[in-house]
Amino acid sequence: MAKQYDIVIIGAGPAGLAAGLYAGRARMSTLIIEKAKDGGQIVQTAEIENYPGSLEEESGPTLVARFAAQAAKFGCEKVIDTVQEVDLEGPVKKIVCGKETYEAKAVIIASGASPALIGCPGEAEFTGKGVSYCATCDAAFFEDFEVFVVGGGDAAVEEAMYLTKFARKVTIIHRRNELRAAKSIQEKAFKNDKLEFMWDTVVKELKGDGILSSMVVENVKTGEQTEIVADEDDGIFGVFVFIGFKPATAVFEGKVDMERGYIVTDQEMRTNVPGVYAAGDCRVKELRQVVTAAADGAIAAWQAARYVDEME
Ligand code: NAP
Repeated sequence: MAKQYDIVIIGAGPAGLAAGLYAGRARMSTLIIEKAKDGGQIVQTAEIENYPGSLEEESGPTLVARFAAQAAKFGCEKVIDTVQEVDLEGPVKKIVCGKETYEAKAVIIASGASPALIGCPGEAEFTGKGVSYCATCDAAFFEDFEVFVVGGGDAAVEEAMYLTKFARKVTIIHRRNELRAAKSIQEKAFKNDKLEFMWDTVVKELKGDGILSSMVVENVKTGEQTEIVADEDDGIFGVFVFIGFKPATAVFEGKVDMERGYIVTDQEMRTNVPGVYAAGDCRVKELRQVVTAAADGAIAAWQAARYVDEME
């Protein structure tokens, strides 16, 4: 028989954990389903300066650990399982996972987003062998090596600065001649001596023999292609990719309204389906931050609890 809850939350990132805290405090029986480990994207962040009240030298993992402990303190349960199918219509929602099926009166989708890929030949082959999507995880492997960062947004520039603490040189490869990152982040980056920029450039191919040792880049204005080869003594360089995210919403396609894969909600986190809410990076919004994810989670849980109360 399916396990029954008032509220099932899908995803244990900042949005899901904040929703768990608020749902638990509203005395709802609450379950968070998470497919891997807590935290979502944020566990890959080495330093969080912009979450109000975060501690000195706060990292993604330390912040998330406190989020999770606080949700658990108020009775929110959690399982590791993968959602395979959902039936969100009607008063009892069904969430079919790999190990169990769960039923809920209300569902909060907080499934997050994952890194976008360059999509060039060699990217998959050299992932973990020179290509990375997580500076916190892999920076130490490139101590004193050369590193390239692809992208021009906040993530690319911040992670590039973080990488300068390890690599001997870091070059940002950006497809335009102007960064997208916030001006305050840009100012810091332009002052960093170990950071260089390759403008109007895209990565066309990643190559090597077992490990990444060369790549072909193209100037988008001139069409000129250049092969960058690892220093002979190094034999490898790093390519860190930060070019945005893809929402993890495939399982909800056709079940709730979406735009380019992101779930559409109103400002109270309601989707078009009664009793179904979305929070955090998986929904249509402009600012994807821990603080906005947490706020979404709180609003979604408060609305979901009200919906459940009104059913009874
Ligand atoms: P983003 O802001 O969407 O930036 C993506 C960057 O990658 C852009 O510079 C974009 O180029 C480039 N890009 C996209 N597709 C590409 C492709 N196929 N090939 C080459 N380059 C490509 O993504 P983000 O930096 O991951 O940030 C996502 C959100 O998280 C943002 O809202 C950001 O503010 C937030 N964030 C905030 C912080 C912070 O405040 N501490 C840290 C990390 C992330 P164009 O500029 O030409 O479009």
